[in-house]
Amino acid sequence: MMVVMAGKATEEQIKHVVDKIEQSGAKAHLSQGKYKTVIGAIGDITLIDRDVLKGFGGVEDVVSISKPYKLVSLEFKREPTEIKVGNAVIGGDNFTVMAGPCSIETEEQAMQAAQVVKKAGAQIIRGGAFKPRTSPYSFQGLGAEGLKILKNISNETGLPVVTEVLDPRDAELVAENADIMQIGARNMQNFTLLTEVGATKKPILLKKSFSCTVEELFMAAEYILKTGNEKVILCERGIRTFEPYTRNTLDLSAIPLIKSLSHLPIIVDPSHATGKRELIEPLSLAALAAGAHGIMVEMHPAPEEALCDGPQSLTSAQFNELMEKVKKLAKFLGKQGNFDGTS
Ligand code: PEP
Ligand code: MN
Repeated sequence: MMVVMAGKATEEQIKHVVDKIEQSGAKAHLSQGKYKTVIGAIGDITLIDRDVLKGFGGVEDVVSISKPYKLVSLEFKREPTEIKVGNAVIGGDNFTVMAGPCSIETEEQAMQAAQVVKKAGAQIIRGGAFKPRTSPYSFQGLGAEGLKILKNISNETGLPVVTEVLDPRDAELVAENADIMQIGARNMQNFTLLTEVGATKKPILLKKSFSCTVEELFMAAEYILKTGNEKVILCERGIRTFEPYTRNTLDLSAIPLIKSLSHLPIIVDPSHATGKRELIEPLSLAALAAGAHGIMVEMHPAPEEALCDGPQSLTSAQFNELMEKVKKLAKFLGKQGNFDGTS
């Protein structure tokens, strides 16, 4: 249920509604829009009398949210959520490029990649310190040492960093070293982890599982928003189909679909979606044209030597070319983007 406050509602009137909701045993979630405040009553709402609430001062309307996800839904919040990270804004009319190696291997490799990423005009550096590998015998990432490298390259370049957190016990450590915390596809429904990262109040990049539905993605995001952290960026990274020529199948329809149901930003990862570097550029441009708020792309200064995901990593030259095309198309589509590499 949500209580829509009139544009002129006072602080006291808002507090009165919040107190009433909480006294009834539900949780009140405030969403302060440009013109109106909406208060979501989440949880057990059986003891809330709608008609009584309707009569409260400053209340314009009391309406139900029909979907199983509440805080994530466009019904709850009509305005698109925009998340500011460094000089980039993710969501709304903005297009953001996050790029870097699959995993942080050495300080030198990470720094080389970050310099290319910055110079080409991308806004955020990516790189895994904790890697979720299918095989326990594959390179698992540098862990805490990788986070230190990421922090150094972020300080050096001035670009914010996105990196994955695999374990709730590492949430604090990752939060201290990263600007955006990534939840990987394999952990999309790790509800303990979602609650833990939500509590850090950092922006969260939530990747859609290759075997989950859009509704399940929203329910996962709801776990984070329920902690009071609205800074969630959704990411389509390919789903499992019967096509073996690509690593996954990029579900482009998820972009307009998600935008029609949720206020949260949605970005696309064409690297994990395809597993093939030659497919990254067309799918990045397709994602932009389909309305995505950004892309996350793997690039490596020497992909043939990469310890992880080399075949899907762009070379520096390919990344530069991609950025030129992204900037042109973004401009054509009237998107905003701080592509000058000076953030
Ligand atoms: C990644 O982005 O590093 C990653 C492992 O992706 P995914 O969780 O989508 O497989
Ligand atoms: Mn990867």
